Amino acid sequence: MPTESTYPKLAIPDVDLWTFLFERKDRAYPDYKVIYVDADTNRSYTYAQVRSTALDFGTGLKSVWEWKKGDVLAIYSPNCIDTPAIIWGTQWAGGILSPANPGYTADELAFQLKDSGAKGLVTQKPFLKSAIEACKKVGIDEDRIILMGDERDETMKFKHFSHVRNLAGTSRYRKTKINPSRDLAFLVYSSGTTGHPKGVMLSHTNIVSNVSMLVTGEGKNLSWKGGINNEGDKLLAFLPFFHIYGLTCLIHQAMHAGLTLICMSKFDLAKFCEHIQTHSITFAYVVPPVILQLGKNPIVSKYDLSSIRMMNSGAAPLTKELVETVYNRLKIPIKQGYGLSETSPTTHTQPWETWRTYIGSVGRLLPNQTAKYMSPEEKEVPAGETGELWLKGPNIFLGYLNNPEGTKNALTEDGYFKTGDVGHQDKEGNFYITDRVKELIKYKGFQVPPAELEGILISHPDINDVAVIGIEDHEQATEVPRAYVVPKKGVKGGKETEKRIVEWLGQKVASHKRLRGGVRFVDAVPKSVSGKILRRVLKEMAMEEKKGA
Ligand code: AMP
Repeated sequence: MPTESTYPKLAIPDVDLWTFLFERKDRAYPDYKVIYVDADTNRSYTYAQVRSTALDFGTGLKSVWEWKKGDVLAIYSPNCIDTPAIIWGTQWAGGILSPANPGYTADELAFQLKDSGAKGLVTQKPFLKSAIEACKKVGIDEDRIILMGDERDETMKFKHFSHVRNLAGTSRYRKTKINPSRDLAFLVYSSGTTGHPKGVMLSHTNIVSNVSMLVTGEGKNLSWKGGINNEGDKLLAFLPFFHIYGLTCLIHQAMHAGLTLICMSKFDLAKFCEHIQTHSITFAYVVPPVILQLGKNPIVSKYDLSSIRMMNSGAAPLTKELVETVYNRLKIPIKQGYGLSETSPTTHTQPWETWRTYIGSVGRLLPNQTAKYMSPEEKEVPAGETGELWLKGPNIFLGYLNNPEGTKNALTEDGYFKTGDVGHQDKEGNFYITDRVKELIKYKGFQVPPAELEGILISHPDINDVAVIGIEDHEQATEVPRAYVVPKKGVKGGKETEKRIVEWLGQKVASHKRLRGGVRFVDAVPKSVSGKILRRVLKEMAMEEKKGA
């Protein structure tokens, strides 16, 4: 029998994100509440400023760019406090946002721009070079590249987003009518269970649902005294806004709940600790490698982190040992959450009160979620036994863009999404994730699709065949990608060739995809009769090698 969430069912508002955030009757904080603050410069946006900036930008898109419903705007930038207004202004004008990793090379960005059909791009000045190159590759005109952030382009060739507004000053533009459950709000990129990155189609309802679910999971709530609230909580935001974890749990949750978000453009341990101390941060969403640093790095002792009430770890597996190490050292409670790009993202989180009772669990099912566990033959296994986790709820994505086959493989006809993650649940309804059946590798929470690396590596002159898998790196609390390579005839394996391959790939991909797990040379890549790479066999080889080391 599938498991239903034990929380009362939520009535999900049937509205688009603009209406949900800016036209709601139940907002419990004032217009002047400061929501987004730049951690370094202290530049900030209140609720009212985000709304008016978004409206300016939205009318600008309609008047200057003749923006149409369904047009896609890509964002290629590190975290910036201008992002929320750009998102909601674009959606006001009927648009869809496709955020991309600012670490992407021009080729990686061009892939996303082309696949998503982007009509324009927002970036920051230091990222212009790759942005221009990528736009050129896919035929986006340079006047469709605009800037955000503090730095302007002195030549005025690239406009600042704040200049894209309705200069005629008329009010003839209206908010575009949205069908919340059908129209897309975001196209985020994920490789899913297999293959190359795909456009994950997230509707307005998907995000509205997940934010509503987070109110139960994280918010000040009748039964959970500990939850975050707008009366004093401040969140430190370094998780990337281009990833669904940052997009929903940081940008959207902050605006909905009226939380102050102190935004860092990227992670740096000393700055992270310094900001906690100076801004009296009370809550942070983190990933396991950050927890590891908090537990072990001597720098941490220089700062007073006592304002923190709780941290939440997600995006990758977290061990009990790490939670205990940090608690013993800093007395910071750490709970866990779980989710995916395809689920908008959070489907599970540990209640604040029980973080210590069920360490290792990713928590309970959030409201409106149904879960079941399946065998490799796709038969349901009894609750308590191990299987692949399938999930159903209003936050499940609509499918992969222009990819009916990928969509069919991921979503069942009765609405379940096959997560590709393996685990079990206990009798109290706590869920545990223990393994993956999908190919995906996660380096410090960032996706590394093996098929993408294999596709590039096979064009290397020394390589005849190749397979990439993830290797556990306990020192860094993450997986790292490793390639198993069959060298071309006459090419000698060994350190020299390994170095050549690692460096060569490093030039072609974003930093998180580099072969930090090295290269191993093999006679053949293990494959099934149908030619599928047997990654399990390689994983076992890696484990044997580790035992022998
Ligand atoms: P993404 O779509 O990039 O958010 O990646 C989703 C994947 O991250 C999941 O399918 C899991 O494999 C992994 N993941 C997320 N949260 C956790 C967690 N708390 N424990 C283990 N794996 C996780």
